[in-house]
Amino acid sequence: MAFPLQGDDAVRYTSPTPIPNPYWVAFSKSCAELIGLPLANNNLPFDAKWLELLAGNSLEIASYQFTTPLASAYSGHQFGVWAGQLGDGRAILLGDIKGQELQLKGAGKTEYSRMGDGRAVLRSSIREFLCSEAMHALGIPTSRALAVVGSKLPVMRETMETAAVCARLAPSFIRVGHFEHFASLQNTDRLKELADYLIAQHYPDCLNTSEPYLELFKRISNRNAQLVAQWQAVGFCHGVLNSDNISALGITIDYGPFGFLDQFEFDYICNHSDHAGRYAYHRQPQIMHWNMACLASAMLPLIELSYSGEEAQTLLKSALEEFPLTYATAWQKGFRDKLGLYTSEEADIGLIERLLQLMHDSRVDYTTLFRSLGNIDKSTLVTDISLRDHFIDREGIDVWLQDYLARLASESLDDQTRRMLMNKVNPKYVLRNHLAQQAIELAQQDDFSEVLKLLNILSKPFDEQPENEGYSKPPADHLPSISVSCSS
Ligand code: AMP
Ligand code: MG
Repeated sequence: MAFPLQGDDAVRYTSPTPIPNPYWVAFSKSCAELIGLPLANNNLPFDAKWLELLAGNSLEIASYQFTTPLASAYSGHQFGVWAGQLGDGRAILLGDIKGQELQLKGAGKTEYSRMGDGRAVLRSSIREFLCSEAMHALGIPTSRALAVVGSKLPVMRETMETAAVCARLAPSFIRVGHFEHFASLQNTDRLKELADYLIAQHYPDCLNTSEPYLELFKRISNRNAQLVAQWQAVGFCHGVLNSDNISALGITIDYGPFGFLDQFEFDYICNHSDHAGRYAYHRQPQIMHWNMACLASAMLPLIELSYSGEEAQTLLKSALEEFPLTYATAWQKGFRDKLGLYTSEEADIGLIERLLQLMHDSRVDYTTLFRSLGNIDKSTLVTDISLRDHFIDREGIDVWLQDYLARLASESLDDQTRRMLMNKVNPKYVLRNHLAQQAIELAQQDDFSEVLKLLNILSKPFDEQPENEGYSKPPADHLPSISVSCSS
């Protein structure tokens, strides 16, 4: 079953609106393998009808049944404010393939489009495609992207652009906003259906506990705590952590004005429309916790099926309190691994925080710096460590490096083994905004080679790729900094 709820209050059966003369912009071989889709020699689907299918132009594929495409209703808090009903305004769910839901984003208007045109532009579709696949290769839970299909159909945003459809995959696209929707309608039966489905399909262990719904909440909350810790460690900013963009599976979904940190700033804001910095890098954990509080409120009626209102609130409150601890544990493990520290010492937290503060003060490039930490040998003299050149506060970094070397000395691993392990968590290549932008600008002139090239580079983010060294570098100083808007 692709989506657990039926009925007008939850879903609308909506076919995609065709786009004229579709063409392939990008295609992920790795996603094709995930759903067992046979490919031809050119690495595109063997059955040419897939282009028409993913464009939303025909639902006929011999071996699959996509008879009831649908859009679902959800609500949510946007920028901290209750926004009421939203829903799949431009994403249409076609069905399931091998445990993955196939959704077409930008496939035309649905019941939930409100004032929108139901479309997505080429620019944002390429960004979602590349980032989904890059995050997956980084080992971060995420929806995947099978393909981007383009068309010359004009779409108006700040300027006139052209349409594209991003075909994305996830075991489920259910969001916190789905729970909030039915909670706001005081429809406990619907909440129960959603929760029962998630437990049966995705969290079966909850049934081994005395209160499966409470356990479901804890698991969703803890998964999202771990997810945001992974984002922090890799320097990823989501950009729009509204509750309708938070997955019930704890995966990264709804890529919009996201950004990977170049120069490190605690308060880096990647979303040009986020004036108050609500979704700035250093606020992501707190905001995710806040979203989990929204989920807790929405799930309250489910806990009240077995407990009094007061007891249910107390139970959910203490379940929600697990979030900071789960997050802190995952964050510490993530950053210890980045520093190559495999035994745990209380003082490590201070060491990590001091490094981040020094990086912030000197606006050091995040990805390059962590990658270069692995080059340090235990016996190196501080004055021979080249990464100190990136810091304005030379004295500060020298003291830090001295402490780091002393700490490394207490680790039993030899330099080579530690370097190998560190290079598996400190990527060399991430989807920096200027790289995405370069690929988009060429794609807008019908040259999709750079999208493919980035896809290939980012599918091996931890490997040294000497031929692609330039793609690991921060943006050149002369490039204007790219500010990504919400428009997509
Ligand atoms: P987002 O900010 O992309 O997460 O979108 C928030 C809400 O607006 C969701 O309900 C989307 O489906 C809807 N939405 C965004 N863009 C469009 C569009 N071009 N057409 C219709 N609905 C849209
Ligand atoms: Mg969204």
